[in-house]
Amino acid sequence: MLKEQLQKNNFTFKKSLGQNFLSDDNLLCAIVADAGIDQDSIVLEIGAGAGTLTRRIAQVAKKVFSVEIDQRLQPVLQQVSDDCGNVEFIFGDVMKNFDQVVSKIGQPFYVVANIPYYLTTELALMVAKCPLCKSATLTIQKEVAYRLASKVGDKDYGSVSVVLQSVAKVKVTRVVDRKMFMPQPDVDSAVIRMDFDRQAEGIEDFELFMKVVKNCFAMRRKTLNNNLKNAFQLDCTVEQLLQPLGILPSCRAETLSVQDFVALTKQIELHKLKK
Ligand code: SAM
Repeated sequence: MLKEQLQKNNFTFKKSLGQNFLSDDNLLCAIVADAGIDQDSIVLEIGAGAGTLTRRIAQVAKKVFSVEIDQRLQPVLQQVSDDCGNVEFIFGDVMKNFDQVVSKIGQPFYVVANIPYYLTTELALMVAKCPLCKSATLTIQKEVAYRLASKVGDKDYGSVSVVLQSVAKVKVTRVVDRKMFMPQPDVDSAVIRMDFDRQAEGIEDFELFMKVVKNCFAMRRKTLNNNLKNAFQLDCTVEQLLQPLGILPSCRAETLSVQDFVALTKQIELHKLKK
């Protein structure tokens, strides 16, 4: 059905836009169920594609705003808005128009989306920083999903896991076999749900927090001492900075918990030289 519909509109998939569409109804309904939305929910979808997920979200939610970069999908999506009545499509690049879209929504919302792989990290961080976004349920590349949900001590634990988990509870809700997509990509996917609580860790300066985490992981095999010594202008040594936290300068970033990074950011804030 999806295939015929796209053929009728002479649609050809663009790999550069991450166009791998879903059409299996059971899977689409399961993704919507994973998101935990209901008839009061306002939802932002990123990357409408042919509107298959949009239709399933619209059956459950109060209103769906869906952003799609590819104007060629307009005729297919027009049919979706005609059929549903509670869907509004916005054509444009979500990365360039995110703030405008959020102001248009103007109230707390959920993100539910099967996103293009090439945008995953950037988009997850953008949504994490948006105070109106309550939760995000994203279908992404499987190995990236497990990386984002990994905990201290796991081999995949890294800077993006720390940053996201400092503001959200992150869990993988299901794995999606590559065979479910049209066209079939080279990798499997997984659905990840992030429930945001931006006050949970008491981070005051999120930009500084992100900078600290990024610098600590800058060279994964290097010690905190090596990664931090030239990253910030401090009024003390890295050893003195870490001492009250009970962290050794010879540690690596991968051994620090989210709470350790929060405490480290507070120390850096205290000891940063004011210019
Ligand atoms: N939601 C559909 C589905 O599940 O079948 C399509 C998902 S497909 C993985 C991703 C969609 O995002 C594509 O339709 C693509 O054109 C769109 N897209 C890619 N980059 C985008 C961007 N920067 N802004 C908005 N949409 C984008």
